[in-house]
Amino acid sequence: MEMIFDSHTHTKFSADSDMAAADAVDRARKQGLGIVFTEHLDVDFPGEYDFSFDPEAYWRAYEPLRGKEVRLGVEVGMQRHVVEENKAFIRRVPFDQVIVALHLLDGVDLYYPACYANKDKRTTYSAYLSDMRECLLLHPFGDVLAHIDYITRYTGKIYESPELGYADYREGVDGVLRACIETDTVLELNTRCLGDRHAAKELLPIYARYKALGGRYVTIGSDAHAAEAVGAYFALARDMMKAVGLTPVTFKERRIEIAER
Ligand SMILES: [Zn+2]
Ligand SMILES: [Zn+2]
Repeated sequence: MEMIFDSHTHTKFSADSDMAAADAVDRARKQGLGIVFTEHLDVDFPGEYDFSFDPEAYWRAYEPLRGKEVRLGVEVGMQRHVVEENKAFIRRVPFDQVIVALHLLDGVDLYYPACYANKDKRTTYSAYLSDMRECLLLHPFGDVLAHIDYITRYTGKIYESPELGYADYREGVDGVLRACIETDTVLELNTRCLGDRHAAKELLPIYARYKALGGRYVTIGSDAHAAEAVGAYFALARDMMKAVGLTPVTFKERRIEIAER
C-alpha cells in the first residue's frame, strides 16, 4: 500500500499561516502520513493580506524536504479576471500539485458577513456553486478542486443550517461535479469541517454523486494552518471515501499517484 497524503496544508509562505515546515512534516510523519504544502496564491484578493509568495524562494527553501513523504504544491484562488496570472505563476516552478479554489463571491471574501447581507441561503449557495463551476471551467489546468463546502465554514452564524445538502442544491452541486469530470480535476475532501458529524453526514451524498457521475479519485486535505491540524479527521475521511467507493490519491510532478487500492 502506498502512503496517504495530507494533500492540503499551509506553512509560513501563506499570508495567513506561521506553520514551520519541519513541524508539519513531523506531525504528518507521526500519523504515518505524507504531506503536500499548498501555499496560497490569490491574485487581486480584497483586504489586508497579500496572498502571494515568491515561488522560487519557496522552492529554494523546501526543495531539500521534497521527496517520498513531502510534495510541493500551491492553492490557486480562482477569479475570472486572473486566469492568465494564475497560469503564468504555476509555470515558474515544477509544482507537484496545483489546487484550484474559490474563496470569493462577487469579489467579496466569503469569510466576511458582508458577503451574505440581504441574501437568503438559497440565493447565496446557488450563486456560490454556479460561480465555482464557471471558475473551474476557466481554470481547467488544476489537479484538484478544493473544499466544495468552503462556504459552510462561515455561514453557521448567518443561516439556520449552514449545510450544503445535496438534495437541496442538486443542480448547483451537479454543475460543479460535472465540471470536475470534464476538466479532469480531482475533487478534494477537505477535513476541516468533519469534526461536526452532521456536516460529515451531509457531505457524503455529494461524494457518492461524484462517483455516480464518473469520478474515481479524491484527495484528502486538512487545510492545516497550524501543526495540530495536520491529518485531522483522516480516519473518518478514509472511511467516508471507502463507503462511496472513491480512491484517495495524491500528485507528484502533476501526475496522479494512487494512495491505496
Ligand atoms: Zn482554500
Ligand atoms: Zn487552503
